[in-house]
Amino acid sequence: LAEVLEGEQSLPAETRDGERIRLMVNTGLTAELSSTLSARVDGVGLYRTEVPFMMHQRFPSEQEQARLYRDQLSGFAPLPVVMRTLDIGGDKDLPYFPIEEANPFLGWRGIRVMLDHPEVLMVQLRAMLRAAEGLDNLRLLLPMISSIEEIDTALRLLDRAIEELREDGLDVKRPRLGVMIEVPSALYLLDALATRVDFFSVGSNDLTQYLLAVDRNNARVAGLYDACHPAVLHALQRLARDTERLGIPTSVCGELAGDPAGALLLAGMGFRTLSMNATSLPRVRAAIRRVESHHACALADETLALPTLTEVHAHLFKRMSEWG
Ligand code: PEP
Ligand code: MG
Repeated sequence: LAEVLEGEQSLPAETRDGERIRLMVNTGLTAELSSTLSARVDGVGLYRTEVPFMMHQRFPSEQEQARLYRDQLSGFAPLPVVMRTLDIGGDKDLPYFPIEEANPFLGWRGIRVMLDHPEVLMVQLRAMLRAAEGLDNLRLLLPMISSIEEIDTALRLLDRAIEELREDGLDVKRPRLGVMIEVPSALYLLDALATRVDFFSVGSNDLTQYLLAVDRNNARVAGLYDACHPAVLHALQRLARDTERLGIPTSVCGELAGDPAGALLLAGMGFRTLSMNATSLPRVRAAIRRVESHHACALADETLALPTLTEVHAHLFKRMSEWG
C-alpha cells in the first residue's frame, strides 16, 4: 500500500471527474524543507512560527528570524507560504516567556499577546517582510482573531513595519493578509473580516475546542473533543457557503483536513484548499483521487443530516470502507 500511495504522490489531488483540490502543507520545522515536498504541494498553508521560537533560549533577533523565514520562502518559491504570527499561550509556552494562568486557552494567547507586546510583533513582521524581499510568495496570517479591533490594530502595525523598512531603503511589497477562523465569534463577523483581509484559514482544532467547550489537551474530556461533532460540521458547512458568497479564498488547516474522511467531507462542503502535516498528504491525496466529486458532496449531505457523533463516525467508516 505504501508503494501505491508513494507512486501517486506526484499526481494532482483531483477527483476522478477532475475536480482539483489544492493540497498545502503545514510546517514549522526546517526539516520539512525539501524539494521533493515542494514538488508535491501547492504551497505552505500554515507555517507555525512558534515552533522555531520554542527551540530558542530567547526571542530570536530580527536577523535570525529573517534567515529562518527566508529559508521557508525561498525553499517553496514561487509557491505561496502562509506565515502565521506567533501563536503562543494556550498550550504553547516559550521557556523564556512563561505565561501562567488558570485558563490558558481562554486567556492570553496568539494575537492578544502580540498586540500587548507590539515590539515583539513588529520585530516579527519586519523579519518576514525582509525575508520576502525580491520574492512574491509571503502571505501573513493572524491567529486567534476574535474581534475586528484586533485586525485594525494589527493592520496599523503592519503599515508601520512596511514604512520603517522602506525608510531603510528596502523594496518591500505589501503581503496578502489573512486571519484564522478559529474562535467562534469570528464566524459571526465574516462580512466585516472579509472587507479587511485577503483570505481566511480555518483552524478546525481550535474551532472544535471553543465550539464544544472542550480543552483539546485534557485527557479527561478527550472523548468529547472531536471535529466530526455535528455542531462543528454544521459550522464548517455554513462557513464554506458564507466564504463562497463573499468570494474570499478560504483554506482549512486544522487536523480535520489531514484525515482522509475529513478531507472528503470538507471537499464535499465546498472547501477547495486543504493544508495538513506532510505525513497526511499521501492518504488524503489517495482518498481524493478515488472518488467522484458528487460522492464527496453526497458524503457531506448525508453526514450533516446525522445528529450524533456516533452516527457520524459509523457513516464515515461505512463510506470510506466502500471506497477502499
Ligand atoms: C487550528 O487551531 O486548527 C490550527 C491549525 O492552529 P493550531 O493547531 O496551531 O492552534
Ligand atoms: Mg489554532
